[in-house]
Amino acid sequence: MSEVRATDGVLADRFGRVATDLRVSLTDRCNLRCTYCMPAEGLAWLPREELLSDAEIVRLVRIAVERLGVTDVRFTGGEPLIRPGVVDIIGACAEMRPRPRMSVTTNGIGLERMAGALKTAGLDRVNVSLDTLDPERFKTLTRRDRHAAVIAGLEAAAAAGLVPVKVNSVLMRGVNDDEAPELVRFALAHGYELRFIEQMPLDAQHSWDRSKMVTADEILASLRASYTLLPDPVERGGAPAETWVVDGYTATDGGPARVGVIGSVTRPFCGDCDRTRLTADGQIRNCLFATDESDLRGALRGGATDEEIARRWQAAMWAKRAGHGIDNPTFLQPARPMSAIGG
Ligand code: SAM
Ligand code: SF4
Repeated sequence: MSEVRATDGVLADRFGRVATDLRVSLTDRCNLRCTYCMPAEGLAWLPREELLSDAEIVRLVRIAVERLGVTDVRFTGGEPLIRPGVVDIIGACAEMRPRPRMSVTTNGIGLERMAGALKTAGLDRVNVSLDTLDPERFKTLTRRDRHAAVIAGLEAAAAAGLVPVKVNSVLMRGVNDDEAPELVRFALAHGYELRFIEQMPLDAQHSWDRSKMVTADEILASLRASYTLLPDPVERGGAPAETWVVDGYTATDGGPARVGVIGSVTRPFCGDCDRTRLTADGQIRNCLFATDESDLRGALRGGATDEEIARRWQAAMWAKRAGHGIDNPTFLQPARPMSAIGG
């Protein structure tokens, strides 16, 4: 394959990676306060005038899709479903050609009410975050008593055809790390695809401690005590999750049931990363762990053409580092927390 250049109409970097998966943060605000993400009192939210309007988001997604080779768009946050324009933004993106595949990462609150409208607007899939099956634990973990709403949201997503419904779980030592097999049982029973995510140093409180993190190896050991995990014959590609077939179980589509582990810290997949990120205030981040950003909002509001914006975006991605370097002694946690970057 010939070398990809920054000017080739794609989002390439110096290491030969091409970003085709765009993560758009629709808001930095949230209706939960997960302990690994935000402090109880919340954060200093972005001022309204700094947030991209719905039309500005749609324009930037269009540039990414029509000029820069983006094929997949994931809406996230903060909590994306609390943005009033979410359904309209998805509807406008569904009109783009080539039509991007679209998904939402949500805590599931509000999904019961919105799943049908999201599907009608053109959403393909959802990822719902759920770390525990115990409503009391959920209350401790998220500081809100909303477990039932998340369960109802999951069911509504499946009923609306936002499939496969994926569930994201973060395990924390002494909090919910005993629940891995139960979470798998729940997901298998409902036809959801479960992925465990290693906890990352992206919390606003900077309280992440590697020695306390539940590692991918530990998660797998805990699962293997209850299930036989077979290597997944399907190629991983740029997907962050390593997946296994759960022997003896069938997915709702009749194929084998799977479980995944996203070992962002201990099994980094930076070499295959295909992500580019747009924050709710119009900054491009070439990595979740980048310490700098490229401002597209200023260009947009200063009258830049689509071509100029596309060039800026390409320049931002060209500068992407080879890896996140969490294991490097000089690693610096990014100033913005996950909720403001868009997880
Ligand atoms: N509010 C939505 C949600 O919770 O799904 C979307 C945004 S949230 C930041 C996206 C994902 O990041 C969730 O699955 C959440 O569990 C995960 N997350 C948040 N903080 C994390 C951390 N420090 N380490 C690993 N995952 C984290
Ligand atoms: Fe909100 Fe998602 Fe962060 Fe939890 S993980 S506080 S739901 S943004």
